[in-house]
Amino acid sequence: MDLAQQQSLLGSPVAGEAIQQQVTALRAQLAEHNHRYYVLDAPTLTDAEYDALYRELVTIETQYPSLVTADSPTQRVGDEPREGLTSVRHPVRMMSLSNVFNKEELDAWAQRLLDAEMPPSDEAATPRFVAELKLDGLAVSLIYENGLLTRAATRGNGKQGEDITANVRTIGSIPLKIPVTPAADSPPVPEVLEVRGEIVMPNAAFIKLNKSQETAGLKPFANPRNAGAGSVRQLDPAITAARQLDAYLYAAHALEQSDTDPSGYNPSPINVAHTHWQTLETLAAWGFKTNAVKVPCATTDDVMAVITEWDAKRHDLPMMSDGMVIKTNHIGWQQRLGFTAKSPRWATAWKYPPEMKTTVVNEVLLSVGRTGVITPVADLVPVQLSGTTVQRASLHNYEELAKKDVRAGDTVWVHKAAEIIPEVIKVELDKRPADTLPIPEPTECPICQAETYRREGEVALRCSNHMGCAAQVQSRLEHWASKRAMDIDHVGPALIEQLLDNDLLGGPEDFYTLTAEQLLTLERMAEKSAQNVLAAIQLSKQQPLSRVLVGLGIRHVGQEVALLLSQRFPSIEQLQAASAEALAEIDGVGPKVAASVKDYLEQPATQQRLTRLAELGLTLTEPINELADKGSNALEGHSIVVTGTLPTLGRSDAEALIRLHGGKPVKSVSKKTSAVVVGENAGSKLDKAESLNIPIWSEADLLAAIKQEGPS
Ligand SMILES: [Zn+2]
Repeated sequence: MDLAQQQSLLGSPVAGEAIQQQVTALRAQLAEHNHRYYVLDAPTLTDAEYDALYRELVTIETQYPSLVTADSPTQRVGDEPREGLTSVRHPVRMMSLSNVFNKEELDAWAQRLLDAEMPPSDEAATPRFVAELKLDGLAVSLIYENGLLTRAATRGNGKQGEDITANVRTIGSIPLKIPVTPAADSPPVPEVLEVRGEIVMPNAAFIKLNKSQETAGLKPFANPRNAGAGSVRQLDPAITAARQLDAYLYAAHALEQSDTDPSGYNPSPINVAHTHWQTLETLAAWGFKTNAVKVPCATTDDVMAVITEWDAKRHDLPMMSDGMVIKTNHIGWQQRLGFTAKSPRWATAWKYPPEMKTTVVNEVLLSVGRTGVITPVADLVPVQLSGTTVQRASLHNYEELAKKDVRAGDTVWVHKAAEIIPEVIKVELDKRPADTLPIPEPTECPICQAETYRREGEVALRCSNHMGCAAQVQSRLEHWASKRAMDIDHVGPALIEQLLDNDLLGGPEDFYTLTAEQLLTLERMAEKSAQNVLAAIQLSKQQPLSRVLVGLGIRHVGQEVALLLSQRFPSIEQLQAASAEALAEIDGVGPKVAASVKDYLEQPATQQRLTRLAELGLTLTEPINELADKGSNALEGHSIVVTGTLPTLGRSDAEALIRLHGGKPVKSVSKKTSAVVVGENAGSKLDKAESLNIPIWSEADLLAAIKQEGPS
C-alpha cells in the first residue's frame, strides 16, 4: 500500500511540516488583519487580498482536516444551529451599576468613596476616576483558557447566564486567541482569564437589519439594544454572524480552576493590573477593542465636563450610548469599597435624560387593528431622536388626542418612552399656525367606511364592520398565522396582503385550500417558496385545539386562557356543549371570559367556520385530555426539561402538563434537573443530561410518572 492509499484509508491525509508552518503563518496573518480591520479600524490588506489568504487557508484545511483548530479564522461560524441555549454559572457575579442623574448625586457618590479613603501607600495611583461612555448593549463575559476563547455568556441574573459561545465567535472584533499580535511589552496572558464588556449592534447594522426585516414581512426591532440581544441569543450562529455585532471590553481578571465551585472556577478574581486605566491598556495590548471615549478624571468637576461634552457628541458615534460610566481607577481601592447587594460601590452610571426634540406634525393618520380599534398616529417631519429617525408617533386613542389637542401643522415635542417608543409629549401652542382645526373623532372607519363605535367602559374607538373591514381581515389573518397561534412559517403580512389583493383569501379556512398554481400567480413567488408555504400550512393542521382558539381571536382568549379551556374541554364539541357556567368554573377563567367565549361559539358564522375547519382536517382536539382535566402533585419538586419532538404531545403541551401536575418545566439541563423528557431529534440537552447522569424519560415515562400518583 502506498502513502496515498494509506492516507485515504485513514480518511485524512497527514500534513507535512511545511504545510503546518504555512497554516500557522496564514492564521497569524489573518488574525492580525482581522484585528486591524475590526478593532483598530486600520486595515492594511484590501478585501480581495484578505479573501485570497482566507481561501488559501480553507483549501489547505479541506485537504488536511486534522489541521483545523478551534482558533482558526475559518471556524468563526462552524457550529450547527442549536436547540436552546444552556445556562452557565458565572465564577464572579456580574453586577449592574447604580445610577446617578445629577451633579449632587454624583458628588454624594464620590464623597462616600473619599470617606472610605484610598490606601495611603497607593497614593501614586492617580487619577482617582475614569469616565467611559456607557454603551447601550448587552453585557458579556468571555473566558479564555491558555489564550483560547472557551466560553462566552450573557449576564442573565448576574449569577447565571446563557452560554452564547458559538454566537460570540462570529463577532469579528472578539479575538478567538490572545494575544492577537504578541509584542515584547504586552503583559503575559493568565492561564484562565475572564474578560467582560458590552456587545453592541452598530447603528448602521441596525438600520440594515430592520430594512431586511421589513422586506421579509417581519417585525422591525425597536432599537439596537433589543436587536443586539436578539442576535446574540440566536440558536443559529450563522444568523448572529450576519448581524454585524461589535464588542467593547472593559474589565479583566485571572481565575483559577476549581473542582468544588459549580462554575468550575474559584470565585476569587485575581487582578491583572494595578488600575482600571492599566486594565484597559492591557486589554488593548492583548487585541481587544476598548471604549473609544475614556477619560482619566481627578475630580467630579472633571467628570462633569466629560459628561457635558459627550451629551450631544454621543449621537454622532456609530453606536447608541445612554450615559457615562464612572469608575474608581485604583483597583486596590475598588476592592476595599466592595459591593452593595446589587452593585459595586466603586462605580456608578450617569444616565443622560431621555432626549426631547421638536418637530412638525404633517397629519394625523388612522390605523385599524385586528379587533377594529382605530388608533390615531401622528405623521411627523422626520426627526433624529436618541439615535434613530422618528417619523411616526402613536397618539394612543381619541381621548388622549383630544387632551393633547394635536393638530396637523402643529409643532410638537417628541421623546421616546422608555427610550424606545416615540411619543408626542405636548404641542408648542405659540407656534400653532392660524388656520388649524382640532382633529375630529372619525364617525366612519378610514378603511371600510363602516360606522365607528365604542364598547362600554373602553376608550378605544372601533370599526363596527368586524367581518368585512379589509384592515381587520388582514390583521386577523396575520394573527391566525402568527407564532402564538397556528405558527405558520413563511406566511407573513406581505404574503397575506398579496393573497387578499388576489381574492385568494377571506377567512383562515382559505389557507388550507390554497394550491401551488394559485400561489405561483403571485408576484415574486417562486416554485420553491410556494412549496414551503404549502408545507407550512399543512403542518399547521396538527396544531391542537388551544392554538386554534388563540388563532380565532376570541375576545379575552389569549394563550393561557385557551389552554385552560381546552384542557378542561379537550374537543371542540365538548367546548361547544359546555354551558357558560361550566366555563366560568374553570380556575383562571371566570364569568366575563366565559360569557365572551360562549357568545362567540354560539354565533352561526363561528359554527360554520368550525365545521369547515374540521372538514379541512384541522385538529380540533387537545391531546392531553386524559390527564389534564385534573391536576395533581405527582411531579411536585421536580424540575423537568422537555427536548426534541415527542410522539404525541407538543412541547408547550408537555410543559403545561408538567406544570399542572406540580412540576416545574425548565429550559436547560443542570445538576438540579430531575429528569429530561426526550423525543426525536433531541440535541445537546440529551448529551448534557447523559453526562450529568440525569434520568432520561420518554413521553410514556412522563405520563406514567403522572399516573402513578393518580390525580389528587
Ligand atoms: Zn373598517
